[in-house]
Amino acid sequence: MKDSHLARATMVKEQLASRGIRDQRVLDAFLEVPRHRFVEEYLKYKAYDDYPLSIGYGQTISQPYMVAIMTEALAPKPHERILEIGTGSGYQAAILSRLCATVYTIERISALASRARRTLDDLGYFNIHVRIGDGTLGLPLDAPYDGIVVTAGAPHVPEALVEQLCEGGRLVIPVGDQSLQDLKRITRSPDGVSEESLGGCRFVRLIGRNGWKD
Ligand code: SAH
Repeated sequence: MKDSHLARATMVKEQLASRGIRDQRVLDAFLEVPRHRFVEEYLKYKAYDDYPLSIGYGQTISQPYMVAIMTEALAPKPHERILEIGTGSGYQAAILSRLCATVYTIERISALASRARRTLDDLGYFNIHVRIGDGTLGLPLDAPYDGIVVTAGAPHVPEALVEQLCEGGRLVIPVGDQSLQDLKRITRSPDGVSEESLGGCRFVRLIGRNGWKD
């Protein structure tokens, strides 16, 4: 794609910084990751536009601003291990991989997981592990995590995800009905679990044992 760096700089300035994304590490990650590599050929010319795009299988790559809000809310640090539920295109995982030590990402649709794995390998983002399975159960094998981000809308907070957080760990998850959700941040501390509401959002459904039924 011609001038993709310019397209990213414009996206960062007009969609992210102007709407209040302040964390410079987060903005730098959006400048670096080539979003057009995560969408299909026929949509590449829209890759830096201000909305979600189809990635096939009834799923979407989220709007850049929504990826930024979730990333900033999760606040990943360079030494941390982060779990993403809902790999989709792999874009959110790529952004996270620039900001922490290791990313685990789980996807229920194996064709999407394979495609994401290929894209991430091609880009040389080797600190990301793509798994196939039901992320509503978390990923117990590699738990606990410093942060967990769920990029699909859940009917309620899956208990397994809270249990797989380290002390000081954060869970960012959209919770609500199928048309509108509230973005929640749940933080685990020695005193227990606290919950904040970060505003309204709209995601595809989180489908699984502790999510919506297929
Ligand atoms: N983060 C993605 C956007 C994903 S859209 C990106 O950056 O492109 C939400 C994804 O969650 C879809 O691919 C969907 O298949 C997946 N998903 C839904 N329920 C899931 C579950 N229980 N476990 C894992 N993935 C799930």
